[in-house]
Amino acid sequence: MNVTEIFGSLVFNDSVMKERLPKETYDELKKCIDEDRSLPLSVANVVAGAMKDWAVEHGVTHYTHWFQPMTGITAEKHDSFISPTAAGGVIMEFSGKELIKGESDASSFPSGGLRATFEARGYTAWDPTSFAFIKDGILCIPTAFCSYNGLALDKKTPLLRSMEAINKQAKRILKLFGKDVKRVIATVGPEQEYFLVDKKTYEARPDLVFTGRTLFGARAPKGQELEDHYFGAIKTKIVKYMKDLDEELWKLGILAKTKHNEAAPAQHELAPIFCSTSVATDHNQLTMEIMKKVALRHGMVCLLHEKPFAGVNGSGKHNNWSLATDDGKNLLEPGNNPYDNAQFLLFLSAAIAAVDEYQDLLRISVASAGNDHRLGANEAPPAIVSMFLGDELTGILEAIEEDRTYSKRAKCNVEIGVHVLPKLPQDSTDRNRTSPFAFTGNKFEFRMPGSSFSIAGINVVLNTIVAESLRRFADELEGTDDIAKAVNRIVKQTMKEHKRIIFNGNNYSEEWVSEAERRGLHNYKTTADALPHYTDEKNMEVFSRHGVFTEEEIRSRREIYTENYCKILRIEALTMIDMMNKMIMPAVTTYQKELTENSLALKNIGIEPNTDIIKALNDLYADGLERLRDLEMATLRTNLIENTFARSIAYRDEVVPAMERLRVVADQMELRTAKKYWPMPTYADLLFGINE
Ligand code: ADP
Ligand code: MG
Repeated sequence: MNVTEIFGSLVFNDSVMKERLPKETYDELKKCIDEDRSLPLSVANVVAGAMKDWAVEHGVTHYTHWFQPMTGITAEKHDSFISPTAAGGVIMEFSGKELIKGESDASSFPSGGLRATFEARGYTAWDPTSFAFIKDGILCIPTAFCSYNGLALDKKTPLLRSMEAINKQAKRILKLFGKDVKRVIATVGPEQEYFLVDKKTYEARPDLVFTGRTLFGARAPKGQELEDHYFGAIKTKIVKYMKDLDEELWKLGILAKTKHNEAAPAQHELAPIFCSTSVATDHNQLTMEIMKKVALRHGMVCLLHEKPFAGVNGSGKHNNWSLATDDGKNLLEPGNNPYDNAQFLLFLSAAIAAVDEYQDLLRISVASAGNDHRLGANEAPPAIVSMFLGDELTGILEAIEEDRTYSKRAKCNVEIGVHVLPKLPQDSTDRNRTSPFAFTGNKFEFRMPGSSFSIAGINVVLNTIVAESLRRFADELEGTDDIAKAVNRIVKQTMKEHKRIIFNGNNYSEEWVSEAERRGLHNYKTTADALPHYTDEKNMEVFSRHGVFTEEEIRSRREIYTENYCKILRIEALTMIDMMNKMIMPAVTTYQKELTENSLALKNIGIEPNTDIIKALNDLYADGLERLRDLEMATLRTNLIENTFARSIAYRDEVVPAMERLRVVADQMELRTAKKYWPMPTYADLLFGINE
């Protein structure tokens, strides 16, 4: 395989455009992208023609506007290029109009009330900042998806708006430092965790098929306690999968870089090289889709759920985030001279203030029924948002705050604008794995997102809240002549007001929970607790101020996510009820029958049988039946509640606990039932089933 040759071979990227478009068209397209203007139809026609020719040469017959509705996954509808001729044949055609705008029946996508049912039309509009590509023989055109009246029905539109917001505010700051850059780009590198299980084993588990996670399952004798899987040698079957996956991703221009085994058995990770937020989002959506497709080719299923298995780690997605200028300079990189350091400290302060003030929005951005199993379960950061800066950097900031000399390691004073910051040793900032939001030397790593998430929503929040801090700073700085002094004041002020968000200790500890409470930090334990705060006044304000969401758009999202939480829990409850009724209880009965017949046979030959197991199973059966009825009733009752918010609370308080209680008994049944009677693969089969 020649990697440089296959890389991007299925992408209509810049070099293909340069090669295939007339120079004027290419220049005009670039200009429109740079200046964020819409494309004149004349230009679009030429681009569309070239795109179609290129696609047809690759054997493509159809195109689709590829978009990202609020389901969190991507959507596509294929149209062929054919156009009839007078002679009764067809030619392959694709117009500029078809490229830049599409009309789509939006009625079956969640809109949270944004789209009245009589106005079911939705529009897709080409996002030329993300390249078109070929997937499964279809030309895919990345698009944004809006309602008739321009409200965002998708995850891409607000993401692009938030990138614009942070671009605008960051440029104001850079201007104060005498830097006139074309663009500031929020960069993201999402590390993706996943599980691989054998396909046949998967198919025999209705819970995995319907919900993506196991709702039952007694522990296997072995879990991850020996720590022998993390970074362990990768099995041949998995190596083959990863190689195939890399190849598919590279063809799509996705910078798949690092792959390794993760902490839990059967768990792995893939990390790409970072790029702009919107491209990283598109690429992560594609990565998740292709991970699943390639797995099937290898007789496996890729699980992206946050918590497929109890008792071993779940999967997350680390969202590495920074800001860069269009010429590639990282704004979160500490500088080499006092002036650059002042700028660095300003951007750092912006992040500190933002994360503290909008902790709730960050928490909301990672809220889902699936992720509720991870956050706070001693494997992922807790549901409390805090920030890790490391002792070194925290020490410097505290010294500035208190007008002190910073002298812990490098004996030096850090007067802004006068002194160089002591070099921050990278490894001193990188290794607190328990922090939800860690500064890792030249970027932030947000570790709370769940593995199945679109990273769009997370970065919409990050971009917007940091843009807000930068806006305030710029307002304050514009018009002062001593920038260094003013920055000093802002850093001090930020520390005074927001240092409660900085925590360098162990986030998994009990003490942190009470300490965080003392500091007044939020602790929204579940999705149902977090989501209502989406529409808090300050949150609505920050989104609308920066033109990212209208109030109506936020309300719709709150509604959609709350509904989604309820729907997922309902599906899980119904799946449990079915599995219990149709699989587990009958299995226990059958085994009981064998045990009973055996007892009677023993009695017949004069041996007094031991009936302990029969009795134990009988008790479990009675208990299981009762808990099953409880879950059935709780689900029925909860589902009748009309108000979405009240329903979500009832799912949290009634259905989830009933599910947990039922599982305990069912797992006890599993441990006591002969393997040949157990009607589904066990944790041992699922987690240790791939041995090639
Ligand atoms: P690890 O966290 O495992 O030590 P790295 O820190 O090298 O690994 O990188 C993790 C991820 O962070 C990668 O996807 C990488 O591309 C991304 N990353 C590195 N620098 C930046 C940046 N400036 N902006 C956004 N993401 C970045
Ligand atoms: Mg990392």
